[in-house]
Amino acid sequence: MSYDKNNIFAKILRGEIPCKKIYENEYILSFYDINPQKKIHALVVPKGEYIDLDDFSLRASEIEISELIKGISLVAKKLGISLSDNGKGYRSLVNIGENGGQEVPHLHFHLFGGEKVGKMVS
Ligand code: AMP
Repeated sequence: MSYDKNNIFAKILRGEIPCKKIYENEYILSFYDINPQKKIHALVVPKGEYIDLDDFSLRASEIEISELIKGISLVAKKLGISLSDNGKGYRSLVNIGENGGQEVPHLHFHLFGGEKVGKMVS
């Protein structure tokens, strides 16, 4: 499967579609999910063209990988949900492929918080 340049997050990254931006740097963009599942529901995406976590693990550079992981914590701090900032914690998850429930074929980490997130898998 090749990367679909017309997926919705690719369009957001190109500025063709608006988003409620939380944070951006050279490697990542973070914005609020359009259909929040919890009080706080944010997304963190790499700027590079990666379909999913497996694609990212195989092809991304060391700096892209470290910046994405660091970016998740940084966004959690900005949202006030990081334990290291006296927040109450959060859940981060990645859906991969059909069985994982991935709808948008551009790698993204979800961050859920602001309230108890509940069972791990329903
Ligand atoms: P997933 O099922 O892991 O692929 O998650 C895709 C997520 O993208 C869903 O939670 C959607 O609500 C969210 N989403 C879809 N379109 C947009 C958009 N234009 N802006 C923000 N979030 C979006």
